[in-house]
Amino acid sequence: MARVYYDKDADIDDLAGDTIVVLGYGIQGRAQALNLRDSGLPVIVGNREDTYREQARADGFEVRSLAEAARVGDVILVLVPDEAQGGVYEETIRPGLAPGNALVFAHGFSIRYGIIQPPESIDLLLLAPRLPGKYLRERYLEGSGVPVYVDVGRDATGRGKRRVLALAKGLGATRVGAMEVSFSQETELDHFSEHFVYPLIVSAIQMAYDVLVEEGYEPEAALMELHGSGELGEVLLEASKIGLHKMIETLASPACQFGIYSYAPRLFPDEMRRALKDVIREIKDGSFARQLLTEQQQGYPRLRTLKDTARGNALAATETRLRQLIRLERK
Ligand code: NAD
Ligand code: MG
Repeated sequence: MARVYYDKDADIDDLAGDTIVVLGYGIQGRAQALNLRDSGLPVIVGNREDTYREQARADGFEVRSLAEAARVGDVILVLVPDEAQGGVYEETIRPGLAPGNALVFAHGFSIRYGIIQPPESIDLLLLAPRLPGKYLRERYLEGSGVPVYVDVGRDATGRGKRRVLALAKGLGATRVGAMEVSFSQETELDHFSEHFVYPLIVSAIQMAYDVLVEEGYEPEAALMELHGSGELGEVLLEASKIGLHKMIETLASPACQFGIYSYAPRLFPDEMRRALKDVIREIKDGSFARQLLTEQQQGYPRLRTLKDTARGNALAATETRLRQLIRLERK
């Protein structure tokens, strides 16, 4: 069973004497820096000259250049986008690394695929929140937290585990649980859900919408039934709390249950396992990573085309109309 750490297993004081530096003040950087500071840890932000840097200043942080922050930092959280990490590491982090420093990643990609190869004298730590920064911050302020994966990829100082658990506590994550998962597995699992679970949900909704409209259903009514009412989001949230099948049993009428369980095998035959295995193979053998890196180097031409097609779809226009008709935001 996966090993999980809680507040009692971690001590913020294990970071006493370490200068903590957050490189990048975006979705994760801002949330992590604010949580760590509110947990009593002194944090310096490193950022290039842009609006994120101004935000860090406005939030009251001492802000330095990436290179300067990396130089003064003992524990360095690398929170610039994955595709920028290789360049940022070579130009600004590596020159400032000293033996005994720790590099902390929120996603294992750069390490898993060898884009960054830190020296042997550095602690290599994974602290990977499972939810976006917005929730990391909100839940912290509510007295709760979001779960994280933690790993010690290399323990140069003998303090690696204590350091990463102290950081997890500072984020509020050990309030709910920090799960031990390796750099490799975190990277592969993260990609797997992005290559399988999310595309299935997105394609199911898109295709259902197109076919329902073709069949003469009112677009707004069709969308409401798919994800527009918020039901899908709510039931999946319930499933994460009480269990997938328990959710169906608890929230769904017998007619609905019969519909789900009788159509599932037909729409989702066992041969689908083969497709899943292919998805995993392409992650493990690095072929997806290579495609991604090429796409990034070229400035995301394929992604742009794919997104333009998605945005130009009639579904997006119906969503805007439905949002004007049905007001879901709760006060
Ligand atoms: P982001 O896109 O929000 O990062 C923006 C920040 O990076 C800004 O401070 C910007 O100044 C800096 N930046 C961008 N490009 C740069 C460049 N070329 N050189 C120097 N600085 C640059 O990033 P994010 O989504 O917070 O992701 C950061 C890390 O956290 C990644 O490893 C990601 O996989 C991981 N992660 C993100 C989330 C999430 O909530 N988005 C969740 C879990 C893990
Ligand atoms: Mg991801």
